[in-house]
Amino acid sequence: MPNTCLTRPLLACLTALLLLLGAALPAWADFSLPPLPYAVDALEPAIDATTMTIHHDRHHGAYVANLNAQIKANPKLANLSLEALQGQVSAFPMAVRNNGGGHWNHSQFWTVMAAAGQGGSASPELLNAINRSFGSMEAMQSAFNQAAAGRFGSGWAWLILKPDGSLAITSTPNQDNPLMDLPGIERGLPLLGLDVWEHAYYLNYQNRRPDYIKAWWPLLNWKEVNRRYADAG
Ligand code: MN
Repeated sequence: MPNTCLTRPLLACLTALLLLLGAALPAWADFSLPPLPYAVDALEPAIDATTMTIHHDRHHGAYVANLNAQIKANPKLANLSLEALQGQVSAFPMAVRNNGGGHWNHSQFWTVMAAAGQGGSASPELLNAINRSFGSMEAMQSAFNQAAAGRFGSGWAWLILKPDGSLAITSTPNQDNPLMDLPGIERGLPLLGLDVWEHAYYLNYQNRRPDYIKAWWPLLNWKEVNRRYADAG
């Protein structure tokens, strides 16, 4: 223990220790794969445990590993949070866009799902915003379903909060997302995003993406969507 701890108040002592610890670490910290916030079989039968395991451990795991592999060649990555990276992704190579997007997208995806019956419902504030922008919850869900089913190839459907305070439905290809500073992206703060890559549903649903989307809604964790909306306000 540094001898400063003998003479300083506890808080100053702890601060000194943390500074010493920080100096001993590399300047960058790897991005890391967050654990699922529930058991792998928690979303069954809509999303089976095998799909969840492969999706989280291998697909999301690979995005994290591939993003970390980019740090050495792109040292600026070291000083960016995952969220901050999204808004500056145009300054980086395609591998950072794809894997940084993949990491952020999946990190939010796990949290906006919950076991059926556990996700609560839309808060009065969010429900008001949905009604103002879409007319009704049903109209929002219908527009979202169309965006999700209509995304050609791989990508995501999103409910976003736009800078003017309105909500919108949008869709992005591959691992792009509405935070990215890229041409062709309708930008906004994602309140929820649905993965419509085949790896998200193929074992159970094969080519029947609309069935997956329909089965997914009861898994929506409205508590998390409410929190995202409230935090943005
Ligand atoms: Mn995925």
